[in-house]
Amino acid sequence: MTMHTPLPTDPEALMELGYRTGSTSYAPQLILDHGKGMEVWDIQGKRYLDFLAGIAVNALGHCHPRVVEAVQTQAGQAMQISNAYMSRAQIRMQQLLVELSFGDRVFACNSGAEANESAIKLARRYQRVVRGDTNRTEIISFNHSFHGRTLAAITATGQPKYHVGFEPLPPGFLYAEYNDLASVEALIGPRTTAVLVEPIQGEGGIRPAAPGFLEGLRELCDKHGALLIFDEVQTGVGRTGHLFAYQHYGVTPDLMTLAKGLGGGVPVGALVSTDEIFKGFVKGSHATTFGGNPLASAAAVAVLEVVSEPSFLAHVRAMGEYLVGKLNSLSGPLAPREVRGVGLMIGAEVGPKALAIMGAGRDLGLLFNTAGADTLRFVPPLIVQPDDIDACALIVQQALDVVAARP
Ligand SMILES: *Cc1c(COP(=O)(O)O)cnc(C)c1O
Repeated sequence: MTMHTPLPTDPEALMELGYRTGSTSYAPQLILDHGKGMEVWDIQGKRYLDFLAGIAVNALGHCHPRVVEAVQTQAGQAMQISNAYMSRAQIRMQQLLVELSFGDRVFACNSGAEANESAIKLARRYQRVVRGDTNRTEIISFNHSFHGRTLAAITATGQPKYHVGFEPLPPGFLYAEYNDLASVEALIGPRTTAVLVEPIQGEGGIRPAAPGFLEGLRELCDKHGALLIFDEVQTGVGRTGHLFAYQHYGVTPDLMTLAKGLGGGVPVGALVSTDEIFKGFVKGSHATTFGGNPLASAAAVAVLEVVSEPSFLAHVRAMGEYLVGKLNSLSGPLAPREVRGVGLMIGAEVGPKALAIMGAGRDLGLLFNTAGADTLRFVPPLIVQPDDIDACALIVQQALDVVAARP
């Protein structure tokens, strides 16, 4: 019989063990134990108000009864069956995504990076195999974008810090300036496979597309025979107060990727596109073992059924406006110089002290993080209520004051 060393009970020893055995690419701040709705508790019983939501993932907060019910029931039926078979849960997820979006078909996968990887592969196959155009070797993405951590996704990510040491990167990626159509016009042409863009740049600092920018991309893509891919991994599934951000902007892409909020905490991603573009895949072109597994699909179905209710989306828009108002009324030397965002995807630009403010907020019982170097990011569960926002604003004000008072 093998003997396992028991897990330490002492919080510091536990943290040390976590650091010693975990990936050197992370620096976690706390050990969390459980959550309920808008709140989470650490292993010492300290309570936090959660305005990070697992990084825009827990769309319905922690342990939403509909998601818990769906996952528990499905776990007792079948969790994984492979794509050699289908399940009611997966078919229902596909049906909902297709009914609720521009798409006709869904490739289900497990993360945002994988959804983007799949979108790049489908776009290339469509241009090459369906349209027979082998000259289209280039993908245009944007500076300050974020598309995930696989090799193709970091290459599409227009931020050099994500590239360092990972060379050689796959060729064929070009970068334009976000919200600058002239910079796209200078790159797009007969060699362009697709333009890949976030309707609101998330990790890059919560930067919404300017009026006319996405429309302009749509026109440029149509004119030059390129496909338009929206990375809605963060903006999708109700985050902006519309089920998908493309609906907020009134511009329809050819391909759309989803992940983060889709499973309400269960890992699931999706690539949504049209019948025409899915001609690019034939049996065997692309696959993933866990993609569309019944457990993840059941969670996604529960989330989509709740979030797609018009009254729920109206709530997201109302709460977003309320939070923006509160953040705009913060005061003192570190008060935000700009508050940006759509729905409940909100950035407050505070300058180089952003990380220190995040730490002070955490110590005061509020979880949020930063996006870019100088912006606080608030992506709370979409079920957030006005009193949660009042409590959040109070703590952010205290955190600003604490950091401003430091020598
Ligand atoms: C988080 C994110 C990704 C990556 O998703 P993972 O699930 O971490 O792979 C891709 N694109 C955008 C816009 C994101 O916000």
